[in-house]
Amino acid sequence: MPFEVPPLPYDYDALEPHIDGATMRVHHDKHHQAYVTNANAALEGTDLADAAVEDVLRNLGSLPADRQTPVRNNAGGHYNHSLFWTWMKPVSDPARPEPDGALRQALDSTFGSFDEFKAKFKAAGVGRFGSGWAWLVHDGSGLAVVSTANQDNPIADGQTPLLGVDVWEHAYYLKYQNRRPDYIDAWWNVVDWDAVASGFAAAA
Ligand code: MN
Repeated sequence: MPFEVPPLPYDYDALEPHIDGATMRVHHDKHHQAYVTNANAALEGTDLADAAVEDVLRNLGSLPADRQTPVRNNAGGHYNHSLFWTWMKPVSDPARPEPDGALRQALDSTFGSFDEFKAKFKAAGVGRFGSGWAWLVHDGSGLAVVSTANQDNPIADGQTPLLGVDVWEHAYYLKYQNRRPDYIDAWWNVVDWDAVASGFAAAA
């Protein structure tokens, strides 16, 4: 079945003032839709046309050579954005502002403290040259911070993405222009730590 853009699980302006509604509208309705449209076209007629997006990204090498790059970029874009929307929550949501429980313990023991984790994650996002993502992943043995170029996802490296921030300019340029560090600083305010904790519980 062809991929579809999932509905945004909150209003476009629900992340204001940290992530502006105009950015969310074009990001979800235009950018994500383009990845879906292009992924479906690139997968059409292949053995992976009906596969789950995770399986597509884990099995890119089984595709015809001329489909691998467009599928990697566009199915990757579909998967990354589908996850990204669920890792954010409205500012009106009273959910916890910081992780606790087992996730917090793992972050503290892996990175030294929650603040040190945030610094490492932010550095991964700021340091990604050009377009890409910064991630908190479970690599099978524990937590790690990584970054990927373009629309690559850590799942292709056998890692489980637990949290990711989109550092393509389209994710922040309307409000933050060239100030990617400011965008990441603001983005922490809308991270849904319950969603991250759920992913951690499933992966750990
Ligand atoms: Mn994006």
